Amino acid sequence: MFAHLHTHTEFSLLDGLSRIPQLMDRAVELGQQAIGLTDHGVLYGAVQFYKEAKVRGIKPIIGIEAYVAQGSRHSREPQDKQPYHLTLLAKNNAGYANLLALSTKSHLEGYYYKPRIDRELLEQHRDGLIALSGCATSEISRHLLDGRFDAAVNTARYYQQLFGGDYYIELQEHGITEHEPLSRGLLRLAEETGIAVVATNDLHYVKPEDAPFQDVLLCIGTNSTVQQDDRMKMSGDPACYYLKSEDEMRALFPNHPEAIDNAGRIAEMCDLTLEFGRVQLPKADVPPGLSADERASASKVSPAGIRAKLTTRGAGLTTSSRWSGRLASPTTFSSSTISPSTLVSAASSWLCVAPLPPRSFSTSLA
Ligand SMILES: [Zn+2]
Ligand SMILES: [Zn+2]
Repeated sequence: MFAHLHTHTEFSLLDGLSRIPQLMDRAVELGQQAIGLTDHGVLYGAVQFYKEAKVRGIKPIIGIEAYVAQGSRHSREPQDKQPYHLTLLAKNNAGYANLLALSTKSHLEGYYYKPRIDRELLEQHRDGLIALSGCATSEISRHLLDGRFDAAVNTARYYQQLFGGDYYIELQEHGITEHEPLSRGLLRLAEETGIAVVATNDLHYVKPEDAPFQDVLLCIGTNSTVQQDDRMKMSGDPACYYLKSEDEMRALFPNHPEAIDNAGRIAEMCDLTLEFGRVQLPKADVPPGLSADERASASKVSPAGIRAKLTTRGAGLTTSSRWSGRLASPTTFSSSTISPSTLVSAASSWLCVAPLPPRSFSTSLA
């Protein structure tokens, strides 16, 4: 059995094209029994993904492709514009709760161009998670591509210690000639560390014929046009980032059938049940022996408490000034304030197309 464990939907905003119902329909057509969701840093699509899979009798595996800060999530230095990618999957409900916590904290504490977690948060929230080493923009891949094999081993050992047997070296094959040394390096790394390998396809759209539309989406996301030659594109074979059949995936890794089998095993290991149709209130940590009113007041969830909180947060700001403050934040691109080279280098670390920046970049982009 094989299952796709690295899947971007349209909720990977301006990077993923797959509509969830069409994705699920195709998975059914191909006879796939499980499929994973790994949008970039967010869980916006998780509930729809879960429900659409369930009604079709497919097992949904909920995850994210996380952005991991190179150092602390609190750091906002120039190099922090290029976080590492890491694939995280919820093995069970505890893992799902941790994904929610990681995604939330990445936005509230680690946001710098992208929602970033860091090793400290991973250590706090590793329970119930399966980690795959990630795409060509992962920490390990960047070490290998830069010829730092020892550093890659150290990183792999760190994650191996943190996740134990729930950590895998992720292999991808997208026809990128420049990444052949990376594939060899990943296999050597797996052999030296004893970490199991797993094959994924960095899935961004449902069918091969969707590739041109993905290209347009990428142009919108990187502020370029399809006519430009020297712009960011899907690396390697641009028509390969689709929902492949198990046979197609096996053909990509003829010498490593275990990488395909492990994807199926991981899917079998995951067991997540989401409950709907019931109001789920947050658990408030309050001292025992209080009346209902006292409990509400103590936990600051009373209507008065909520009102006070909302008033404080918006104090002194009109609606329009709140919006303009948001728009002026560094999270929004402005072609007049950011150079094309910065945009390309930043985009290459956010999308799964790195690290192959164009040879030169037209200044007409700005
Ligand atoms: Zn990806
Ligand atoms: Zn990636």
